[in-house]
Amino acid sequence: PKLVYDFAEGNKDMKELLGGKGANLAEMTNLGLPVPPGFTITTDACRAYLETGAVPAELADEIDHHVHLLERKMGKKLGQADDPLLVSVRSGAAASMPGMMETVLNVGLNDDSVNGLAHQSGNPRFAWDAYRRLIQMFGKTVLDIDGEVFEDALDAAKKAKGARTDLDLDAADLKALVETFKRAVHEQTGREFPQDPRTQMDLAIEAVFGSWNAERAVLYRRQERIDGSLGTAVNICSMVFGNLGMDSGTGVAFTRDPATGQQGVYGDYLQNAQGEDVVAGIRNTVPLADLEQIDKTSYDALMKIMATLEGHYRDLCDIEFTVERGKLWMLQTRVGKRTAAAAFRIATSLVDEGVIDTDEALRRVKGAQLAQLMFPRFDADADKQLISTGIAASPGAAVGKVVFTSAAAVEAADRGEKVILVRRETNPDDLHGMIAAQGILTSRGGKTSHAAVVARGMGKTCVCGAEELDVNVAQGTIKVNGTVIEAGELISIDGTTGEVFRGEVPVVPSPVVRYFEGTLAPDAGDDLVASVHRLITHADEVRRLGTRTNADTAEDAARARRFGAEGIGLCRTEHMFLGERREAVERLILADNDADREAALAELEPLQRGDFLELLDAMDGLPVTIRLIDPPLHEFLPSMEELAVKVAVARERGSASDHDEKLLAAVERLHEQNPMLGLRGVRLGLVIPGLFAMQVRAIASAAVELRKQGKDPRPEIMIPLVGAVQELHLVRDEVERVLAEVGVQVPIGTMIELPRAAVIADQIAEAADFFSFGTNDLTQTTWGFSRDDVEGAFFSRYLEKGIFAVSPFESIDREGVGALVRTGVERGRATKPDLKVGVCGEHGGDPDSIHFFHEVGLDYVSCSPFRIPVARLEAGRAAL
Ligand code: PEP
Ligand code: MG
Repeated sequence: PKLVYDFAEGNKDMKELLGGKGANLAEMTNLGLPVPPGFTITTDACRAYLETGAVPAELADEIDHHVHLLERKMGKKLGQADDPLLVSVRSGAAASMPGMMETVLNVGLNDDSVNGLAHQSGNPRFAWDAYRRLIQMFGKTVLDIDGEVFEDALDAAKKAKGARTDLDLDAADLKALVETFKRAVHEQTGREFPQDPRTQMDLAIEAVFGSWNAERAVLYRRQERIDGSLGTAVNICSMVFGNLGMDSGTGVAFTRDPATGQQGVYGDYLQNAQGEDVVAGIRNTVPLADLEQIDKTSYDALMKIMATLEGHYRDLCDIEFTVERGKLWMLQTRVGKRTAAAAFRIATSLVDEGVIDTDEALRRVKGAQLAQLMFPRFDADADKQLISTGIAASPGAAVGKVVFTSAAAVEAADRGEKVILVRRETNPDDLHGMIAAQGILTSRGGKTSHAAVVARGMGKTCVCGAEELDVNVAQGTIKVNGTVIEAGELISIDGTTGEVFRGEVPVVPSPVVRYFEGTLAPDAGDDLVASVHRLITHADEVRRLGTRTNADTAEDAARARRFGAEGIGLCRTEHMFLGERREAVERLILADNDADREAALAELEPLQRGDFLELLDAMDGLPVTIRLIDPPLHEFLPSMEELAVKVAVARERGSASDHDEKLLAAVERLHEQNPMLGLRGVRLGLVIPGLFAMQVRAIASAAVELRKQGKDPRPEIMIPLVGAVQELHLVRDEVERVLAEVGVQVPIGTMIELPRAAVIADQIAEAADFFSFGTNDLTQTTWGFSRDDVEGAFFSRYLEKGIFAVSPFESIDREGVGALVRTGVERGRATKPDLKVGVCGEHGGDPDSIHFFHEVGLDYVSCSPFRIPVARLEAGRAAL
């Protein structure tokens, strides 16, 4: 295949091949916007490199060809001594991975051409600065030299000169620094810095390919669930310079505020600077609006281009640009990352502006974003000690202990502690710590700094650029206005306002939760709530999937109902046997004759009945699926080890009680090596006489009672862990007998949570009025993964090795477990065409899984109350 595309040959829809950056550079080129000429090496080439460890043989010729074209276009040649063509080599994958991979600028400079550049530009300082940047970036990213080596040398040069910033170094200083850098390269690698521009370019391209598998890139992809086999494209772009003087500069811009979605001029600008200076937060930037004063022509041109881009992409765009001596150049654009709140606001504003329709607006918001908007906020009325206010970079309310390093954040998080990672600025090496922390606080950098961009992408709370804070990582202190905060102290940061508080600030429910609770009207003046209301209402109109909840208490049921649940998909009755009732369960287990057993059951029945009365009442008029008891009985007994010790000690003293002896015998009798695969679910019902009958009587009589009160209870009885239709027939006979005694009719269905059940679903459907997939057990038994053990034990390794990108307990494994679900639905409906089928495993509230359940034709998903709004939204999106 063709491995290299000129910018003029691509378009925005070629992201997979050209990466996001390459595809959008091509789009802008073809829109006639001022993009410096260049070309893109495809992700195919990268994948070939990653597979074989070598750059594909045909790539060199293609690059030659495109370099020639570029040289012709630019009227100068790579390495030309008197006027060199310089290029940037930048990574660009299909999915944005901010700061995760490599970039090398100023490729093409060497000991000769630096003089040509100095002469051509009339600015030797600039030329030497460009050269030292090349060696620095090349040294770090291509030659793997520790970046500190260069940073330290730069700091030393500044110190020697008494310089405050790099701008205070002159041409001679920078020339000397180039010599120092070259020496460092030789010392560190035993090789000279390569003088041949084409060698520089080839090595940089290889380094970009290789950076795809850099540790931090792998980690980022795992966090963001990005496929590790995609590879990155490489963009070779002719250089334009923002560091030619104060009439030059570089910046980033957003067509709307990525934090709120408000229209306006948002971004940062830095005069006399190149490339990453803005993002790295090296010097403090000025707000983009100031560019109007600095250079009105460029500012006006930028505003016009921003309008063009928003109109073209019909969405918020973010932009990187450079001004070279008063001429504006576009270096990058993409549909920009945004906060959850901005996503909702932007989507509905674009509908109001007539740019997109409501379906499209719904496509543009995600369940995960809605979930974020439901997180609590700081209580405005609480006593708090404000210590500073920085830039509100990524919203949320985070409380935690101060840590200063990524390693400390990870260690503390492993101990289960909540931490705030505090840094002067972050860089890609801080990623581990950012993931582990509740929030991120920096003292430098703007809304587009690394910390801000990455935190927003991860949905993590971030306050950046809190300049009053004097962060001393080495000492482990933050000094601010005369106070000192040390590592381990609690602070609270508000990513919505930028405020930083000492101590722990209490939180209150978010307005979005209050809206779902019904205590905040959608038209009460909160525009975010209004946006959420519009989109969730639309989702409800278009979705086919029903949304039920998993709830065992009237309180949960009532909340879920307010959140929009259309019934209960799973009530786990065993939760009703805990607490004080454990003793009655114990008596049931210890009973060694019918009379004792019946007495114990008789004791439990009214308690159960009371539970069901409340639950059915809370869901009056809506279906309530009640599952008969599932877990193994020893879960209700004391631990075998502890009891054995207690009894042994008592025996020694001759004081062992009869009760304890009996209890120990029962515990030993019921002990199982693999309780998850043991006596539980339908098996219990078949082995312990009267247990299921008691539960059914409680359900049926609760329904009768409510009906007497004029209510409309709609219980459904569900049998867990069925693997053979015979099991279901036997239990069904008993259940029907009890129902007939009480004189009510209740649908009787089963869970499909064993592979065998899915495979023989056609038989099972003969005895079931409905199915509900228990994807927790189905995942456990399909993979043979113990659901209680594996995630903590070795899943992180599995994720690292790319065996799966996300835990199959979190998001449905479509190929394996999903295939069984599909089979179960098909076979079940082959027997009973209108068999009602739902899912009640954890996957019922997972966005990706919901799309799958829609595809395979389930009737509803059931999830925990707090995930109901997310499920409604995603069910709507799945139906588009
Ligand atoms: C399941 O297995 O998916 C299920 C919902 O049941 P439980 O989690 O109670 O085993
Ligand atoms: Mg189960």
